[in-house]
Amino acid sequence: MSEPLVIVGNGMAAARLVDELAKTALGRYAVAVIGDEPRLAYNRVLLSSVLAGETGSHEIELRPADWWRHRGVTVRYGYRVAEIDTGRRELKIAGEESMEYSKLVLATGSTPLRLNVPGADLAGVHTFRDTRDVDLLLTLAAAKKRVVVVGGGLLGLEAAYGLA
Ligand SMILES: Cc1cc2nc3c(=O)[nH]c(=O)nc-3n(C[C@H](O)[C@H](O)[C@H](O)COP(=O)(O)OP(=O)(O)OC[C@H]3O[C@@H](n4cnc5c(N)ncnc54)[C@H](O)[C@@H]3O)c2cc1C
Repeated sequence: MSEPLVIVGNGMAAARLVDELAKTALGRYAVAVIGDEPRLAYNRVLLSSVLAGETGSHEIELRPADWWRHRGVTVRYGYRVAEIDTGRRELKIAGEESMEYSKLVLATGSTPLRLNVPGADLAGVHTFRDTRDVDLLLTLAAAKKRVVVVGGGLLGLEAAYGLA
């Protein structure tokens, strides 16, 4: 019988790992991917291009639903893993049932650093990390005349370029 292997996070690493498992350990694991973003894994690197209007949001999906299905992977997107019990080898999905695992992979990526200054949590101050951020930034940019980008690294410059 296949061992239940659960991957937490439906991002770029999860897609790559499933690709490798399908090549090297086909049938050994019953794989489930649980991710809190409301869509299949996509190429996050291309978000700058989506923000700039050069690429459509639907074009950045890494693999279509069929690809996951053909590999026997259960994908649950829009679900956040809220608790892990390593003793019982069980995890809890927020507002949902528990799920058992034999192997667990945390592929949860990272979160943007918010400025530790007064006002950083005010309305109108946003981060740039996922498609929900991009949708929000594009909506706001259409309605506002001035945008200030804090952080002049690669992503800051790409955000400024995209919004301009
Ligand atoms: C705009 C932008 C441009 C970038 N450009 C480049 C580039 O040019 N070159 C480069 O090398 N890198 C770039 N990066 C960084 C690159 O995208 C990340 O390094 C990469 O996405 C990391 O992949 P990952 O699978 O580890 O994490 P992610 O792709 O972040 O995926 C992790 C997923 O796990 C989910 N998750 C987190 N916690 C939970 C939980 N408790 N339950 C369920 N799901 C959860 C997250 O919501 C997310 O969907 C860029 C990033 C951004 C935002």
